Amino acid sequence: MFCLFHKWKGSCKCERCGKTRDKYHDWNGCVCRRCGAARDMEHSYTCGVCTVCGKRSSAEGHTYGEYPKRSGQYAVLVCENCGYEKIYDDWDSLVDRLKSEIRSANEAGCSVPWAEDLLKHMIM
Ligand SMILES: [Zn+2]
Ligand SMILES: [Zn+2]
Ligand SMILES: [Zn+2]
Ligand SMILES: [Zn+2]
Repeated sequence: MFCLFHKWKGSCKCERCGKTRDKYHDWNGCVCRRCGAARDMEHSYTCGVCTVCGKRSSAEGHTYGEYPKRSGQYAVLVCENCGYEKIYDDWDSLVDRLKSEIRSANEAGCSVPWAEDLLKHMIM
């Protein structure tokens, strides 16, 4: 079909002939719901892959545990889903968090060896 005057109705897709224009998209994150156009922003990453458009970005969208684990001489955050490791660098707040974790465990009569181990390693 061919239109002389497209019927855009404030959208990116002509109602009559289905022609699209690069305006007034109905974005669902990185992809337009109406015409399927893609943009390189607001991706929905899960473990490094955008679930909407398939774009890859290895460091994005992982689900890290609350505390880092030791990995050699580094502390790393490990993704609970795929095991991706990210170097942990928020040292100052981590020391405080570990200390309060250990303190509250001790108050409850427990111990948290992994936290003590990590803390010892970090303070050195
Ligand atoms: Zn048209
Ligand atoms: Zn569109
Ligand atoms: Zn995407
Ligand atoms: Zn992951």
